[in-house]
Amino acid sequence: MRAPYRHTKIIATLGPATESKEMLAQLILEGVDIMRLNMAHASHQWVDNAMWFIREASTEVGRHVGVMMDVKGPEIRTGTVETPLSLATGDQIEFHIEGAVPSSEIPSVSVNYPGLPGDLEVGSVVLVDSGLIRMKVVAKDDSRVRCEVLTPGKLGSKRHINLPGVYVNLPSLTKKDEDDIRAGVRAGIDFVALSFVRQAEDIRILRHFLDELGSTAKIIAKIEDQAGVRNMQEIIREADGVMVARGDLGIEIDYHKLPLVQTDLVRACQKEGKPVIIATHLLESMITSPMPTRAEISDVSHAIREQADAVMLSGETTTGAYPLESVQVLKNIIGSIEPSVHADLNTGITLGEPKVKMLHSAAVLAQDLGQSGIVVFTRSGLLAYKLGALRARGVPIYAFTDVESIFRQLLLPWGVEPFLMPFSEDPEQTILNALAYLKRQEWCGPGTWLVVITNALASGRIVDTIQLRQVE
Ligand code: PEP
Repeated sequence: MRAPYRHTKIIATLGPATESKEMLAQLILEGVDIMRLNMAHASHQWVDNAMWFIREASTEVGRHVGVMMDVKGPEIRTGTVETPLSLATGDQIEFHIEGAVPSSEIPSVSVNYPGLPGDLEVGSVVLVDSGLIRMKVVAKDDSRVRCEVLTPGKLGSKRHINLPGVYVNLPSLTKKDEDDIRAGVRAGIDFVALSFVRQAEDIRILRHFLDELGSTAKIIAKIEDQAGVRNMQEIIREADGVMVARGDLGIEIDYHKLPLVQTDLVRACQKEGKPVIIATHLLESMITSPMPTRAEISDVSHAIREQADAVMLSGETTTGAYPLESVQVLKNIIGSIEPSVHADLNTGITLGEPKVKMLHSAAVLAQDLGQSGIVVFTRSGLLAYKLGALRARGVPIYAFTDVESIFRQLLLPWGVEPFLMPFSEDPEQTILNALAYLKRQEWCGPGTWLVVITNALASGRIVDTIQLRQVE
């Protein structure tokens, strides 16, 4: 196997620091597997340009990346203010719904959520600007909420509001999300990450929308509030993967319970055989510093030890001064920690039908062989996703597909190295082509024993087989 083989995938968010073709080429070469397009402030023209740059850069360096569009979902935001408001402890501020008459006594800022006054009680906590400014409701009427500032801060335009524990009565897929997804599908995105997923129905609504657009993009459910945590089982079952969106999650739940919820989500995804991404603040200090803090190194290591499928960079690669260094740091931590993680297979997973159960035997065999790997041929991606979920540490999964969209979607699951290759009519020829390719690209040297999962013709019937093949 090519050394070092990396099981954990790296996702980087595109932004001003990285959106040139040259920078993208370097990021992709450095090891980014998936680029994330955050639609919080992006235009559709930006999506088109970004997509073109990503695909161009990728072709130039000869390494492929998937593209994930992250849409905002039901998010409450303040309106615009002409100049940022300096709020001191004890100050009062009002939030009014759009169209209401604002107070003339105290500063008043609009919000995009008409249900805000109805959802809050006097005494409720309101968190503004990603939890930085804490407030308490002191009075309200049908269209306005008056708050007292508990933690001071500066309130700028279009700041995010969190209402911990409140079920926000906004649609799970907003009109803006639909427009963004249409633009993304036209541009050829591989994944859609939906923010604030609260129940399985949210995923079904998005799936239906994608079906109508003729898109097979995989759906990543961002878990970031109490309802999402409560309903994690049904959400994971319905989605194609999960993002532990720790930025909002750390505001919406008690911050000291965040590690427990992260572990619960990782385990629940592994049980269901669905990929899980750990996001936000992994290397936050590297936005301004070339080296991470020791605590960040430990946090990333924890995600690797838990065997999350992917770790994600946000500010580090959008506005950070050290985007390439951040990817290198992730790679270095993964390189040091992965070999130290136990090699036990994931026994909690439900494998279902016999063909999928066969994967477990293939993983055991490949681990026993040592210095081996599994070759799998897949058109739907299912077998490769399940193989990744088995967490056969030390065993690369060489997944061959002839479907381009599936090829890029296979860049997410743990341990899977996908290849796009036409399949021959003759399964034997397909195997020979795959082995020759792996040798040519120096993934495996001559003499390497590989476990091959494939169809074979026996007495005129197609049967599922596990085969042992040696690279010549
Ligand atoms: C998060 O909250 O951690 C997250 C990834 O979402 P966003 O960047 O959209 O806030």
